[in-house]
Amino acid sequence: MSKYGGHGDNANVRKHYRQLMEKCKVHMDQVEKELPESMVDFKEALAERGLSRRDFIKWTSAMTAALMLPPMFKPMVARAAENFSRVPVVWLHFAECTGCSEAFLRSSYPNVDDILLDTISLEYHETLMAAAGYQAEQNLEKALHDFPGKFICVIEGALPRGWNGKYLTLGPKGKTGIEVAKEVTSKAAATVCIGSCSAFGNVQAANPNPTDSVGISAALGISTVNIAGCPPNPTNFVGTILHYLMFGGLPALDSLGRPVWAYGKRIHDYCERRPHYDAGEFVDEWGDGGAKKGWCLYKVGCKGPYTFANCSRVRFNDAISWPIMAGHGCIGCTEPAFWDTMAPLEKPIDEKTIGGGEKTVDKIGMVLLGATVVGVAAHAGLTALKHKGKDDKDESAHK
Ligand code: SF4
Repeated sequence: MSKYGGHGDNANVRKHYRQLMEKCKVHMDQVEKELPESMVDFKEALAERGLSRRDFIKWTSAMTAALMLPPMFKPMVARAAENFSRVPVVWLHFAECTGCSEAFLRSSYPNVDDILLDTISLEYHETLMAAAGYQAEQNLEKALHDFPGKFICVIEGALPRGWNGKYLTLGPKGKTGIEVAKEVTSKAAATVCIGSCSAFGNVQAANPNPTDSVGISAALGISTVNIAGCPPNPTNFVGTILHYLMFGGLPALDSLGRPVWAYGKRIHDYCERRPHYDAGEFVDEWGDGGAKKGWCLYKVGCKGPYTFANCSRVRFNDAISWPIMAGHGCIGCTEPAFWDTMAPLEKPIDEKTIGGGEKTVDKIGMVLLGATVVGVAAHAGLTALKHKGKDDKDESAHK
């Protein structure tokens, strides 16, 4: 493979990546000059958690590939990682379960992503900070005052709009979530929504949605980067911040605000059970012979064919496993309104539900999704018929 990856060495590709590298170097110099000094020695942090230089180099290669950059960018990814803790972050919590923070913080075998998240410069985080009440509010005011236009606003949780936003109030002055979100996001360099609650509303917005909860972009009418998932993969958040550090901008987003490098492909197309799907080998019920053999989970409710995310490629818990590998189908948690549109979670989807006018999915997604639903249903139907024919034949052979 060339240093430009699998793209070949033609002149245009070389020119494009040379220019991108120049841009990256200029921006990294600026970051190192302008952002506050880090309070953490990253190399020491790695050593303290038992990670060697070799582990870091391996992680750098994997992250460069995950970000869809050619190998020549590995040193820049390493440099961005070393500067990760210099980006000031204000982390807000609204209507949610704090599961995203928990998922990021509670790994038993920390990898480089986890260490980066541990060292992140949190100016304000309601779950982690010791301050409460007026003191907490002062911390937030100080962060907004000290880093105007320079901090990243990370949001976990949906915003209830019902009852003038009063289903969710925060702090000693009883500000609504909407008031706090408006104030903080208007001063941030960028707003990153962590998890499907802040991205799309998630369970709070599920039918009948009594609090009229929605995601941040819908509540405030602003653009957000949506790191969707319930919970999302830490790699997708870390990669997005590294991209911001390297290029001074956010990565390319899809029509739902999700970074394309992480959410550009369907689960179904990179699933290790896909050969069984293609061969018509399905788990029919939990614990049957197909389940023991690791066959496709479509008939017990897998929503991988309708879901865009990189779970199978980056996996969870230091890439040990992911839901389908562990034996449960995908529930579609990176897609908007999945509680309503992907239900029932343990049965195949009712194509009328998802193909019948989901307004949050864009036109192209609708066509793709519609085609996929019909394709999947037809394939499963065909397979069921094929199996039935075989069973009949087997039965008649014993008569
Ligand atoms: S339906 Fe689910 S388990 Fe089957 S191949 Fe697709 S993603 Fe994998």
